[in-house]
Amino acid sequence: MKSNKLEKYEKKEKLGEGTYGIVYKALDRNTNEYVALKKIRLESEEEGIPSTAIREISLLKELNHPNIVKLMEVVHSNKKLVLVFEYVEMDLKKFFAQFPKEKGMEPVIVKSFLYQLLRGIQACHQQKILHRDLKPQNLLVSKDGILKLADFGLARASGIPVKSFTHEVVTLWYRPPDVLLGSKNYNTSIDIWSVGCIFAEMSNLKPLFAGSNETDQLKKIFRVLGTPTPIEYPKLNDLPSWKPENFEQYQPDNLAKFCPRLDPDGLDLLIKMLKINPDQRITAKAACDHPFFKELPEQVKKLYVNVK
Ligand code: AMP
Repeated sequence: MKSNKLEKYEKKEKLGEGTYGIVYKALDRNTNEYVALKKIRLESEEEGIPSTAIREISLLKELNHPNIVKLMEVVHSNKKLVLVFEYVEMDLKKFFAQFPKEKGMEPVIVKSFLYQLLRGIQACHQQKILHRDLKPQNLLVSKDGILKLADFGLARASGIPVKSFTHEVVTLWYRPPDVLLGSKNYNTSIDIWSVGCIFAEMSNLKPLFAGSNETDQLKKIFRVLGTPTPIEYPKLNDLPSWKPENFEQYQPDNLAKFCPRLDPDGLDLLIKMLKINPDQRITAKAACDHPFFKELPEQVKKLYVNVK
């Protein structure tokens, strides 16, 4: 693609910095609509991007779902890669900031967002795409209350040699214990753990497990859910960083104590997402069918009229 493809966009302010590059707001002069331009930093500008990776990333343009931020265009020129997304007003982290911590968000908003998040994830998992880095900052919220996943399966799924920010503090708060313990065989269950953490955070307006390093992160998880044993998690002894002597033996605590605003259905669903053994975690599809979602706002149901 030619570089003049970018000329139709009038660059405005910087919106944020993700793991792979800087995101700018821009105006599409042809349509008069705003877009978000994500400039991907490449490991080596000399090497360029493998054409297979470009093809793979372009496939994400076919992903049409109300809860996935639309990738409109992939511009690859001068060894640079720019992804053009639909523009969405806010991210979930900023959205949280509007509510007083002591009151929280209305339960119906928590339910609606969790459902939309799960529907978006389910669509990606169906296509064998993992997110691996779900967190409130990459969940976008439109002005009419539609939640959309951003950053899905981009660089890592496509094998693009992206450069990560060396100064960036990668948040561990949404990372599952199996991955923290060095598992490389993760699957869709990795995203479900993150959804569980985000669910609790939406309910409490504060992160559930806010560890300061990997060991502290695991300790915070085990203190609430109990330190695992090979009886309930047979693959535990195969995990590279699992050393039982490094962890105190905590008994599982009552999760309700940590999420006091959740009703019994909400707690039941959260417990099913936050299983230490990844093989026991609920799938996105099963979670969408959970009784917690018996009643959903009409506005949310309407989103899926034309979705398989
Ligand atoms: P990301 O790299 O996707 O994590 O994006 C970093 C930040 O840029 C996010 O936290 C958002 O604030 C912003 N951002 C990303 N994508 C969009 C978008 N499509 N529309 C508006 N803002 C975005």
